[in-house]
Amino acid sequence: MTPASDPRAEAVARCAAPGGDREEAAAAVRRLLVADGHCPPEEADAAAADLVGLARHYGNRPFTPLEEVRRELGLDRGGFGRLLELFARLPELRSAVLAGPAGKYWSNTLLPLEERGVLDAALAGKPAFPHIVGLYPGPTCMFRCHFCVRVTGARYPHSALGNGNAALASVIDEMPTDNPHALYVSGGLEPLTNPGLGDLISRAAGRGFSMTLYTNSFALTEKALAGESGLWDLGAIRTSLYGLTDEEYEATTGKRNAFRRVDANLRRFQRMRAEREAPVRLGLNHIVLPGRAERLLDVVDFIAELNAVAPERPVDFLNLREDYSGRPDGALSVQERAELRRILLEFEEKVRRVTPTLAVDYGYALHALKSGADAQLVRIRPETMRPAAHPQAAVQVDVLGDVYLYREAGFPGLPGADRYIAGRVGPGSSLSGVVERFVNERVHVAPRPGDEYFMDGFDQVVAARLNQLEADVDAGWREGRGFLR
Ligand code: SF4
Repeated sequence: MTPASDPRAEAVARCAAPGGDREEAAAAVRRLLVADGHCPPEEADAAAADLVGLARHYGNRPFTPLEEVRRELGLDRGGFGRLLELFARLPELRSAVLAGPAGKYWSNTLLPLEERGVLDAALAGKPAFPHIVGLYPGPTCMFRCHFCVRVTGARYPHSALGNGNAALASVIDEMPTDNPHALYVSGGLEPLTNPGLGDLISRAAGRGFSMTLYTNSFALTEKALAGESGLWDLGAIRTSLYGLTDEEYEATTGKRNAFRRVDANLRRFQRMRAEREAPVRLGLNHIVLPGRAERLLDVVDFIAELNAVAPERPVDFLNLREDYSGRPDGALSVQERAELRRILLEFEEKVRRVTPTLAVDYGYALHALKSGADAQLVRIRPETMRPAAHPQAAVQVDVLGDVYLYREAGFPGLPGADRYIAGRVGPGSSLSGVVERFVNERVHVAPRPGDEYFMDGFDQVVAARLNQLEADVDAGWREGRGFLR
């Protein structure tokens, strides 16, 4: 019998998932403990039950401090320490945590950051070159999405572009080249409104970076893609899809006749990409907005139409997200959330049938919901924001060269956002210098109500993890801090 078809192995693998059989999993873990000599038989029953409890907990709630879980399990510190040691000896249990509803938090974000020592540097207050750097080159945006924090009418002056692009180019030149995915282009405002964008992309590609461009694709025109346009040097273009009709686009973005233009741009891109045999990947980002959950199924048809334009180069990926802003008008109603799981399962089946090559990323919360657990998104509040932020993990640089600590703060004129500027890149001032100064001088930003909206999902996850790690270390669990790493 292969391990995959062994019901005992399966019970362990599924022990953190909704409906996983806790008792069967504990019995299987007990056998592992005794057979491999990890634990005397008389202690194995209790240990196995607690180990399964740990896997279930961290497969569902990854940000809990260890002390809280120790108290929940009713163990003394010695007993809990031994349990953590046993857990580390059984890779089957680690896999079960990663396969749990909250597995995406671990595998997409936390473990890669742990692997590179990013969180240790942030925790120790040591400067490190940011693990991920966002370039925000857009001076303006043609849309006014109702959920966007941008200040209506605020834009960067055109005269700033020359120096701004030079600052962004200097950041590209300064980046360590050990991670080809360390740079991306986003906003802030819409990147394609910067005429120098193609040159920046080619510059980054020349240093080995495979950048993703986050765009609304309204300006992804034939002219933008013509000739030697640097856009073809991108690793991927990720288009935010705001609806499937002009009316839906107008309701979300305030722009008339916008869907037809984005649709035409994407179809043309598909044709040109196939003709050029360009390796750049194409993907969409779709936020499930209140009242539009059912539209998910129509998104598959839209992608199928784009695929039909260039059957040999189908759309590569789709990222589905909930509105992460935490604003009340972004939340789905209780009834719609209840429906969403059914819709997600139907959607998954339709993707398999209609667009089988499409890679779908459900993000943290929708992945959990699809698995049958209505997981809450991590929510950092002003009182749990970290005054030193986490520039070792990520920063964003706008077209003035300003280095923002949070991803949703890099908009011109946004009240209070300038408090989250760590410094400015420009002649005589490098990005590493800005981060070093910020960290070494122990600059702290006192959070105010509403500041949490400056953080996107990634920022919130990093902050929650650092809070957890700090709590573990403070409670004397330095060795086991953070549970998995
Ligand atoms: S969300 Fe993006 S496309 Fe929409 S208004 Fe904001 S910057 Fe523009």
